Amino acid sequence: MENSKSSKLCPSYAAKPGSQLFGIVNRNGFIDYLENTLEVNEPFMEEASKGRNPEERFRFAGNCAKSGCSQWNDGKEQCGLIDKIIKIVDNTEKTELQPCPIRSQCRWYDQRQGLACAQCNEIIRNIEMKIVNV
Ligand code: SF4
Repeated sequence: MENSKSSKLCPSYAAKPGSQLFGIVNRNGFIDYLENTLEVNEPFMEEASKGRNPEERFRFAGNCAKSGCSQWNDGKEQCGLIDKIIKIVDNTEKTELQPCPIRSQCRWYDQRQGLACAQCNEIIRNIEMKIVNV
């Protein structure tokens, strides 16, 4: 159990070289999920940083930092962020999940399954951090 938990990906990872790009924010503010993740490099980050903050335009994944992250709940051994997002965004779970290239490794899916996916489509890291830090 601990093994599968320790190798999960954070779907709210920072934009930096080595991050896995998995979604692009479309013009309606929703996420278009890539078929496969793309590991971003320095040139990508330089280019992506020329316009708006890359975290307002893309979604990145990377290894969940667990105790190294302020959202981690040591007692429950879980990420607390997805529970806050479920409460705030409050979308109902859909019968069909959107395609997602990180689902099998996603920390949020591991914890809350389709209910996490139902919120994920509307999440932009930049906004999310503001919401949960108020
Ligand atoms: S605890 Fe949550 S927010 Fe923090 S790195 Fe892990 S999945 Fe991401």
